[in-house]
Amino acid sequence: MKTHRTQVLIVGAGPAGLLLGQLLHRAGIDSLIVERSSGEHVLARIRAGVLEAGTVALLDEAGVSARLHAQGQPHHGFEMAVAGVRHRIDLQALVGRSVTVYGQTEVTRDLMEARLQTGRPTWFEAAQVRLDDFSGSSGAQVRASCVVQGEAREIVADFVAGCDGYHGVCRASVPPQAIHTYEKVYPFGWLGLLSNTPPVAPELLYTRHERGFSLCSMRSPTRSRYYLQVALTEKVEDWSDQRFWDELRSRLDPETASSLITGASLEKSIAPLRSFVAEPMRFGRLFLAGDAAHIVPPTGAKGLNLAASDVRYLSQAFIEHFQEGSHAGLDHYSSRCLARVWKAERFSWWMTSLMHNFDQEPEIQRKLQQAELDYLLSSEAAQRVLAENYVGLPF
Ligand SMILES: Cc1cc2nc3c(=O)[nH]c(=O)nc-3n(C[C@H](O)[C@H](O)[C@H](O)COP(=O)(O)OP(=O)(O)OC[C@H]3O[C@@H](n4cnc5c(N)ncnc54)[C@H](O)[C@@H]3O)c2cc1C
Repeated sequence: MKTHRTQVLIVGAGPAGLLLGQLLHRAGIDSLIVERSSGEHVLARIRAGVLEAGTVALLDEAGVSARLHAQGQPHHGFEMAVAGVRHRIDLQALVGRSVTVYGQTEVTRDLMEARLQTGRPTWFEAAQVRLDDFSGSSGAQVRASCVVQGEAREIVADFVAGCDGYHGVCRASVPPQAIHTYEKVYPFGWLGLLSNTPPVAPELLYTRHERGFSLCSMRSPTRSRYYLQVALTEKVEDWSDQRFWDELRSRLDPETASSLITGASLEKSIAPLRSFVAEPMRFGRLFLAGDAAHIVPPTGAKGLNLAASDVRYLSQAFIEHFQEGSHAGLDHYSSRCLARVWKAERFSWWMTSLMHNFDQEPEIQRKLQQAELDYLLSSEAAQRVLAENYVGLPF
């Protein structure tokens, strides 16, 4: 069996894995990325679209932000519609910061192109990825294996970064007694539709409605992304484009509904909503990052941004280790990440609870939700708290 040696084995070529590889490369540290899917498949996944300023700064540092700055749209606020009335949350006025709308697909494309230019290896369509030893006992290195184009390969590395998402192999390789997981599954999902139509509103529009939550979002001035809260029993094949547009219109205030421009869907999918955290995020020589360690419901636009902040801490820790021989960053990685992760989990849960319909909950829940919304929309202090979390807490 062929053996490949590297400093850092990265499992998963999502945004977390690719960004980590790029930051390490710029510090002269070698990595191998192994990815289960093809590059085309990774690029075809439609996901997040709102970047915090801290994520943009990290992409700057990684040297992959030229297109982001040329094509990304700075958003200085967003809107919340409640009982048919639109309210603007002015991020810039409230906390002096903004977000950038730039699709995850584009971030991934920029990172993949940069990876290609580094000449460092990425093994796509790697099957049967297995972590054979990452305990680090007696200084032992990481041993892993996979099958690429029918050929079994062994990998020896100093460390392994588990950037392989919620369903990946890395977290699953940790002995159950060494890990604690926390999970909340929401009783609904988001049905998303992507279309080449101009966005209905200039900024993101979150709508609380008796028929269910909706989000009008965008990827560019000519490409829109819309979401509807749907029951978990719904199937995407039962949603024709027409049914989607009709349902969206019925949840919007009349003026917004009448200006909605519809078109053929480029993609439609249903994503279940979940809050999930695995603790700790380090096991010997294995470090989990991004969705492999935590999931947030997408309401607060935090998933991709949290993956980036993990990578920030992890890249710094590896750089300190390889350049200065320091273990401090590696030792504090898990606690540093989790402090930030739990705050983003709280915010995402809060915003989800605020804006969705919880039909099965006792009636008092609806009244409390209404009171929370009334308070938020009438209190500048409450809006500042929302804005501070939405633009991203400091590192
Ligand atoms: C359907 C959907 C919609 C979303 N929408 C939003 C949104 O609107 N806003 C938001 O903020 N966030 C959203 N998110 C979350 C956001 O996209 C994620 O937080 C982000 O992708 C995390 O990046 P990651 O690199 O950690 O994980 P991923 O992007 O999941 O990447 C993990 C990679 O690992 C690979 N992999 C998995 N298993 C293996 C294995 N055994 N071996 C090798 N490779 C493996 C996968 O193929 C994948 O390429 C959404 C997520 C999903 C699933």
